[in-house]
Amino acid sequence: MNEETKANRPISLQAFMRRFPDDVACADYLAAKRWPEGFRCPACPSEKGWKLTHRAAIWECAACHRQTSVTAGTIMHRTHLPLLTWFIASHLVATHSNGISALQLREQASIGSYKTAWFLLHRLRRAMVDPDRGGLVGVIETDETTIPFRTKDEPVAGGQGRSPIGKLVVVGGVEVHDDGSPGRIRLRAIPDFKRTTLHDFLTSVTLPGSLISTDGNIGYAGVPDRTVSAQVIGKMPAHVFMPWIHRVFSNLKRFGLGVYHGFRRAYLQAYLDEYCFRWNRRKWRHRSFDTLLGIGLRVGSLPYRTLVSKA
Ligand SMILES: [Zn+2]
Repeated sequence: MNEETKANRPISLQAFMRRFPDDVACADYLAAKRWPEGFRCPACPSEKGWKLTHRAAIWECAACHRQTSVTAGTIMHRTHLPLLTWFIASHLVATHSNGISALQLREQASIGSYKTAWFLLHRLRRAMVDPDRGGLVGVIETDETTIPFRTKDEPVAGGQGRSPIGKLVVVGGVEVHDDGSPGRIRLRAIPDFKRTTLHDFLTSVTLPGSLISTDGNIGYAGVPDRTVSAQVIGKMPAHVFMPWIHRVFSNLKRFGLGVYHGFRRAYLQAYLDEYCFRWNRRKWRHRSFDTLLGIGLRVGSLPYRTLVSKA
């Protein structure tokens, strides 16, 4: 994830603050992104409206006079935080190549409490999965791995080896281009290594006609509408003939330990989504901020109670 040219390097925080000096600038940006062809009332067919002068994020319909917030129905729905805080947090999350913890975010974005920073980060992670994203296509390296997890206040638990006891189980796929370079990835937290679980992953993240390259695990055999190629080459270790999925897994484990001091079971999928977001946009980091807020406008809200009910 280190290959990066000057052109796609994200802008500095200073340049960012010049572009978004206050909540008004943020609200205008969101309004332009939400209504690229101009204001549209969500309650009536009217396309005429105006911004309230005393509250930048609220628009009023010229016909029915309904007031609509630019953040209604988005990840920022009913937020108590200033829009500028959301924007700075999105910038930091999008520009830190390895991710940022709630503790770091709290400090760097001057957020009042750890809990607020933690909740904000989780809502941003929700905006890391585009609901309209397409399936992986072509040759796809696929494998599973186990990751030790930690409980709330304890360090990482779970022994070594392949046994899933005390560990998190993850299945992943990487597109491999004709020149051997890696494309997009998908990762999913799974309850077990059963055939139905593995098949369900592949049929939902890859397009029909794809060639699934595996290490010979029979659980993958017979995935509908895909060709499965089991690459068992004597005693050659799997990372030799499936280099990319193993690179993804080892970087994922480093990401978990380095940024979060170990993943927690309840939020594993959110961390996997964040990892995929960073990997899939590693060459377009300068656009990650726009992508994050763009998806954030479409995916709906994430109430705090829904989030903590998982823990
Ligand atoms: Zn209206």
